[in-house]
Amino acid sequence: MPTIAIIGGGPAGLMAAEAAVAAGATVELYDAMPSVGRKFLLAGKGGLNLTHSEPIEPFLSRYGQQRAFIEPAIRSFSPSALRTWAREMGVNTFVGTSGRIFPTDLKAAPLLRAWLRRLRQAGVQFHVRHRWRGWDEEGRVQFTTPQGLVRAHADAVVLALGGGSWPHLGSDAAWTQILAEHKVLIAPLKPANCGFDVRWSEHFRTKFAGQPVKTVDVTAKTVDGIVIRQRGEFVITETGVEGGVIYTVSSQVRDAIEKMGRATVFLDLVPDRSLKQLTQDLLKPRGKRTMATHLQRCARITGVKASLLRELVSKDVLADSARLASAIKSIPITLTGPRPLAEAISTAGGVSFEALDNRLMLRARSGVFCAGEMLDWEAPTGGYLLTGCMATGHLAGTAAAAWAHAQLAQPN
Ligand SMILES: Cc1cc2nc3c(=O)[nH]c(=O)nc-3n(C[C@H](O)[C@H](O)[C@H](O)COP(=O)(O)OP(=O)(O)OC[C@H]3O[C@@H](n4cnc5c(N)ncnc54)[C@H](O)[C@@H]3O)c2cc1C
Repeated sequence: MPTIAIIGGGPAGLMAAEAAVAAGATVELYDAMPSVGRKFLLAGKGGLNLTHSEPIEPFLSRYGQQRAFIEPAIRSFSPSALRTWAREMGVNTFVGTSGRIFPTDLKAAPLLRAWLRRLRQAGVQFHVRHRWRGWDEEGRVQFTTPQGLVRAHADAVVLALGGGSWPHLGSDAAWTQILAEHKVLIAPLKPANCGFDVRWSEHFRTKFAGQPVKTVDVTAKTVDGIVIRQRGEFVITETGVEGGVIYTVSSQVRDAIEKMGRATVFLDLVPDRSLKQLTQDLLKPRGKRTMATHLQRCARITGVKASLLRELVSKDVLADSARLASAIKSIPITLTGPRPLAEAISTAGGVSFEALDNRLMLRARSGVFCAGEMLDWEAPTGGYLLTGCMATGHLAGTAAAAWAHAQLAQPN
């Protein structure tokens, strides 16, 4: 029976382990941290959005330019297969109002516990506190451990080392250096589903950092000039903006900033009212009311939304009802840079698909497969990240076992 080393115990590595065991391999799983699945557990704090219920075509389109590369993995381990897999482990799922799919209890820990139990019962051996350092001259995988350097033989290896976000949870992207030394093509890692810097005034920052801005439309432009409009909520932060609707436009905004140095997005503070209706309402006589009261009465704009207007719109416009209506429907915010990768939800860039064959095996190193967020794809939030990680893990684990079986079957 071949031995497969899976390095990285996030959702991609755990799924690779499951698939490799099912394909008749002995599996040794290594992770740098004292326990596996730390980012998966963190995702549970937001309810653990496992996947999405939309039809497969729009689902696949979420992977953008990299769709063609990730599609075979997702077609063989689809969103519905993922739900079945969770159910088999005693975790039922439900479809939320947005079409997103969550475990019924909105928690990651029970699912992870059941998963690890199942893997252990299937014979997977876990080696934590093993930080991968590459290969020795004899092709063995090497790890630094509290007991010193450890070397292990494996017939095939699956690397599932994650991206570079939230590095204190284990995925610190140190693998980029090791693989680059082995001539593996790696697209630069970038923040995805990330916040952005905005130059808030001191007054606005201290008063509103941490406050949510509910139900707005955000309009952004791609580098090719395509206009995208998304509805949702976001949060004012000490340094700028982050959260739901900002994440949905973040890859386009990040790329625009990379090209132009900054990007402007436009906020519609009252997306359910037309400009005409809003203008009519604001043109109603104000009498002795302050502009703040007038805005509250006629446009139901209060609190952080009213302050955003004062922060971003000139006094002249604030005093002119017709121009103010246009401003409320389209306030420009200049975003000066993405927040650092360490703070992002996920990572764009990684091992290039050109460096891999269609089984996710490195062309530069036979018998070494890659899976999960360390690959060069990105997707918005909505369950697409975990689905992509688990699907590529499943493909890499199955392929690694098949490759190793075939090697062992060859006459020496
Ligand atoms: C706050 C937050 C919330 C999220 N919520 C969701 C959500 O609801 N839905 C969703 O789809 N996605 C969500 N994500 C994204 C999702 O968690 C990740 O995409 C996913 O965990 C990536 O899986 P992975 O297995 O590729 O990598 P990781 O989960 O990062 O696992 C990689 C593993 O490799 C180990 N490792 C790294 N380097 C080494 C080394 N040199 N040697 C040994 N081991 C190493 C790490 O310790 C880690 O255990 C969220 C992310 C964050 C930060």
